[in-house]
Amino acid sequence: MNFSNEYNQEQKEFAKEVRDWLEKNVPKNLIRPRSIFKMSREQWEMRRDLCRKLGQKGWLYPLYPSEYGGGGLGGDKSAVLNIEMAEMGLSLPPLYDSGKLAAPTLLACATEDQKKRLLPPILKGEAVTWQLFTEPEAGTDEANQQTNALRSVKEKEYFIVNGNKIFVGGLYAPPDQFLLLTRSSLEAPRHQNLAMFLAPASLAGVQIFPLDLFPEGTIGQVCYQSSDSAPGVKHSVFFEDVKIPESYLIGGDNDGWKVTTATLTVEHGDRDTDRAGTGAAFIPRNHLVEKLLDQCKNNPAIKNRLLENPLLQGDLVEAFIGGEIERLFHMRNAGLPRAGKRAAYAGPQTALFTKMLGLNMTAYLTRILGPQTLTNDDQLLLEEGLFEVCERSGLCIAPGGTPEALKIVISRALRIGR
Ligand SMILES: Cc1cc2nc3c(=O)[nH]c(=O)nc-3n(C[C@H](O)[C@H](O)[C@H](O)COP(=O)(O)OP(=O)(O)OC[C@H]3O[C@@H](n4cnc5c(N)ncnc54)[C@H](O)[C@@H]3O)c2cc1C
Repeated sequence: MNFSNEYNQEQKEFAKEVRDWLEKNVPKNLIRPRSIFKMSREQWEMRRDLCRKLGQKGWLYPLYPSEYGGGGLGGDKSAVLNIEMAEMGLSLPPLYDSGKLAAPTLLACATEDQKKRLLPPILKGEAVTWQLFTEPEAGTDEANQQTNALRSVKEKEYFIVNGNKIFVGGLYAPPDQFLLLTRSSLEAPRHQNLAMFLAPASLAGVQIFPLDLFPEGTIGQVCYQSSDSAPGVKHSVFFEDVKIPESYLIGGDNDGWKVTTATLTVEHGDRDTDRAGTGAAFIPRNHLVEKLLDQCKNNPAIKNRLLENPLLQGDLVEAFIGGEIERLFHMRNAGLPRAGKRAAYAGPQTALFTKMLGLNMTAYLTRILGPQTLTNDDQLLLEEGLFEVCERSGLCIAPGGTPEALKIVISRALRIGR
């Protein structure tokens, strides 16, 4: 296995094509704020335009079949696109979009007609999707949905939705559509009483309220890719007698849990294969560790602190090793499908490791760099605020499953759980 991050000849040629295209198509005035809270609506709209342009070329979702609007490219080229975007401080897609979860869900569970109708807007960058799973009483216990989507008695081809979601979405409301998990039966047993929809967000009776949170996103989004994809702002969404036509139901009336499992498999870390099984891992450069090393070597005050204190040197080494292990996990995950193998624990293991690394990182950063990592005072910021953003993001371990939830998923994959 090749453990280097170097391109092969074909990738080098493709990388040049990608760089030339990005040079022409990424607006010169597009800024990359460290903090997502500093991204204006205008800047966000620029990213939406970039999504559409990438989508037209098939580069927004390079691995997905071209018949549905994807790029139909292999893993090698997909990795190049991700890496070249990251080198420009951008993510793929260059904004927060749960289309990354909706697209593989549709591919796995939608009818052919739905795939043809619902996939192209996502894959071509025309629709922004929010994932609406979490409720006040349904977080880790995702199956405990209280938002009802009950078939209308009068108009059987409609579902009537009532309830509310929390901790969902990203910049800026409203999105174009929701991937919406609901309860479809009040009588059926648990796990057989759920329905999933990919429904327009503009339906009458939907209300969206911002919910400002302390974190920017998760450590992975902030350090390995770009804060573009980090959901700093979340929302509550309320449904009052919302009528959803059954053409937006994914799977059968009571198949919601099966469909959710398809989404969660990707969300719990099985991203490296992007459901296409080609091993298209984006092997990230850990910008956080790189910048931290940079500070320790080149900032005289920090360098002296480390020289005087071997415990801080130890922290730095731990941070460095953590970054390396994380990178190697991604390489392993990418290599497995190429070798015709699959390890169900691999994705959640990487996700769990990244979360715990992020949490540990918050302590390493404060100890090594000092309390200025805890303030966003412009006068004191190091690396334009990267470390301060990482302090908040590292603490955010709930999205995509808490560490406890991931441990349960891993133990099931190891066949030692239910
Ligand atoms: C920044 C952010 C972004 C988010 N984005 C989205 C989004 O876009 N869409 C969406 O639908 N949701 C989103 N969420 C919600 C997220 O998925 C939930 O926060 C997460 O599933 C945990 O649920 P909870 O917060 O209700 O915590 P709880 O489920 O109440 O858990 C509380 C604690 O109890 C532990 N616990 C719970 N059950 C068990 C168990 N069986 N065994 C052991 N320990 C257990 C948990 O690990 C945790 O430590 C987001 C959350 C945040 C903070």
